[in-house]
Amino acid sequence: MDESRLEKLCVDKGMKMTEQRRVIARVLSEAEDHPDVEEVYRRASAQDSKISIATVYRTMRLFEDEGIVERHDFGDGRARYEEVSEEHHDHLINVKTGRVIEFQNEEIEALQERVAREHGLRLVGHRLELYGVPLKDSDK
Ligand SMILES: [Zn+2]
Repeated sequence: MDESRLEKLCVDKGMKMTEQRRVIARVLSEAEDHPDVEEVYRRASAQDSKISIATVYRTMRLFEDEGIVERHDFGDGRARYEEVSEEHHDHLINVKTGRVIEFQNEEIEALQERVAREHGLRLVGHRLELYGVPLKDSDK
């Protein structure tokens, strides 16, 4: 199997890559959503039934500490994860369905930098989560 982007990142950081870590890294690299630990475990154990939830928890913590995955809290009390992407994006959460939309908005980016500058700071990062409900019942 080809090495995923996350596996390469781990190796570049000098992490010892066990087969189970590789499976978990691949699951995260392939995810197009923002899975929680239980979901990562479900997908990982489908590939390797010997993986335990404790291993997944430990590995997620390790990946987070190494800065290769990002942890999010989208307001439902569950930690969600995604691989750190090259392109910055923010999140818009449909609280009715739980769907998470990724977006980029130049005006918001510029505005945030302006706010920081007005307080004498140079912005080095931010987190933005927007929460919404459908405008019409038909909107999902
Ligand atoms: Zn995201």
